[in-house]
Amino acid sequence: MARYTEAVCRLCRREGMKLYLKGDRCYTDKCAVNKRNFAPGQHGTSRKKLSNYGMQLREKQKAKRFYGVLEAQFRKYFEIAEKQAGITGENLLRILETRLDNVIYRLGFASSRAQARQLVVHGHFTINGRKVDVPSYIVKAGDVIAVGETSTNSPQFKELKETFKGTVPQWVSVDIEKLEGKIVSLPSREDVDIPIAENLIIELYSR
Ligand code: SF4
Repeated sequence: MARYTEAVCRLCRREGMKLYLKGDRCYTDKCAVNKRNFAPGQHGTSRKKLSNYGMQLREKQKAKRFYGVLEAQFRKYFEIAEKQAGITGENLLRILETRLDNVIYRLGFASSRAQARQLVVHGHFTINGRKVDVPSYIVKAGDVIAVGETSTNSPQFKELKETFKGTVPQWVSVDIEKLEGKIVSLPSREDVDIPIAENLIIELYSR
C-alpha cells in the first residue's frame, strides 16, 4: 500500500501539479507536491525546457492521469469528440467529465476518482433505478444517480451523510439525505475547473 501511494504521488510530481489522486491527503501538508515540487528520479530537479511536442504530450498525460483513463480509451474519446458537433477539445473534456466515476467524485460521494471507480465497480450505484457498475459509463442530462438500496445502510454511506461538504459543481445537484444526485445539465468548458490546455491535446492527435 505504501508503495502504491508513492507511485500515485509521483504522477503529480511528474506533471508539476496536484492531480488530486489521493483524496483527503491531497489537501494536507503530506501532499508530495507541497513537500517535493520537482519531478521524481535522479534528474528531477533539472527540468528541461519542453519542445512543442513535449508540451502537447505532457498535457495529454496530465488529462489521462487526472481522469484515470488509459491511452486506448483516451484515444477513443478523442475520436468520438472529433465526430461530435462543436469544438473537439471541449467535447473531449465533456466526455471525460461525464464518466460515471468522475460524476460520483463530483457529487462528493467519493474523495477521489480512484475511490469513486472502486465504489462503482463494487455495484453501489444505480442510474435511473438500474444498477450500473461500469466506471466509464457516460451519463446524460437528467440522469439520477443514487446509492443502491442495499448499500444505503453500509457504514461508509451513513458516514457520508455526516461528512458531506455540500459543495458540488453547478451542473449537478445532490440530495444527501436520499444519497442521490442529478445531472442538471451537461458540463460546459467553464464548468471544468482543471488546468488543462485541451487544444494542445487536439494538436497532438492531429499530427
Ligand atoms: Fe499525492 Fe494527492 Fe499530492 Fe498528488 S495531490 S502528490 S496524489 S497527495
